[in-house]
Amino acid sequence: MSGLRRKSVTPPILIRNARQLLTLRGPKGARRGPELNELGVIPHGAMLIRDGVIEEVGPAVRVENLAAARGAVEINAVGRLVMPGFVDSHTHLMFPPPCTPGEAQREHESAVKVLLTMTGHRLERRGRGYLDAMARHGTTTVEAKTGCGPHESAETKVLRVLAALQGKPLDVVATLLFRFSRAGEGSPEADGAAAEWMCGELMPKIRRRRLARFADLEWDPEPWRQELFRRFLVTARELGFGCKVHADDAMPAAAVRLAVEQEAVSVDHLEHIGPAEVEALAYSQTVATLLPGASFRRGRYAPARALIDAGAAVAIATNFNPCDTPALNMQTAISLACLAMRMSPAEAISAATVNGAHSIGCADRGLLAYGKLADILILNAGDYRELPEQLGTNLVHLTIKRGKVVYREGEVAEGD
Ligand SMILES: [Zn+2]
Repeated sequence: MSGLRRKSVTPPILIRNARQLLTLRGPKGARRGPELNELGVIPHGAMLIRDGVIEEVGPAVRVENLAAARGAVEINAVGRLVMPGFVDSHTHLMFPPPCTPGEAQREHESAVKVLLTMTGHRLERRGRGYLDAMARHGTTTVEAKTGCGPHESAETKVLRVLAALQGKPLDVVATLLFRFSRAGEGSPEADGAAAEWMCGELMPKIRRRRLARFADLEWDPEPWRQELFRRFLVTARELGFGCKVHADDAMPAAAVRLAVEQEAVSVDHLEHIGPAEVEALAYSQTVATLLPGASFRRGRYAPARALIDAGAAVAIATNFNPCDTPALNMQTAISLACLAMRMSPAEAISAATVNGAHSIGCADRGLLAYGKLADILILNAGDYRELPEQLGTNLVHLTIKRGKVVYREGEVAEGD
């Protein structure tokens, strides 16, 4: 019996010969201020994985000679960079649906209509296509939001599709994104009723069905909505959701204050924040999630340097959205964070891995250490400082998700 059992156990995997291995080992929790520059670099590193989890990480001379490494399946990373998979902690993966290139941005209501006309299967196929592309570019965990407005069947449809996509092959962390109808279109009565329905009906239902882990808020400055926003976050916390706030408005001071007051896990965008908000975030546990791809399109960047220098915990993500930010490559987010937001390559890498993980409550990934998930990248680079320089090049040679190779770079055929 024991012999049979031994045979069924998959052999460990040994990643050998890495030119440079980034462990990201460091303090528990999100990295802030100067900690973002500490990548825990091991030159000539190796690591051992078993059953989807990391067993050993260290210098090749030690790890490759361990008894446990005998009989392991070997992956040769010679000349290459080994690092944790990217955690894309802010995407709008399924909503709004894609626009025709060149088309003016679609109205919210018509985007909801398009979504409702599509079958669940078709939506799932589309989502699967995006997730495959993300895996090819090195993302191993993705957060994905709803955001269809006060519309139960649309919100539930997106959440069911996200549940169906879970683990195929990436981990998908679902977030319920609450938004009112556009500013200027609501009324205190209609918004009050929408908030009542969201807090009293939809959120408890989604919590019971475990369809989302986070509750996010599309903040806007409409005065009568401020108490409704607070109520949304208070209710979300009572129900056990982690909270997030979209603060992409031109006057985001009240949004940041609310996020910090309600101990939101993250507050995102932040293109327009000033010194007071920087300071508030530096003294809070809330992660400042910056979206360089969205900023590039809108022409205004969040003050990354001021946030990090003040001691804030900063994450970066793509804000991927099939309609108005269809850019899903975290390597590009890292390049833009360095080239346009003056983050150092090490800060950007920490922000795209370990801090992204903390901003979606996943402390079990984003770093390479004993017991963490074996979500690993092998990149065509010998040094991590090459990452931001190679703007637009996909450097991924291999993506490993929970110990399984889910993407391997293809070969170019020789011409005749
Ligand atoms: Zn967003």
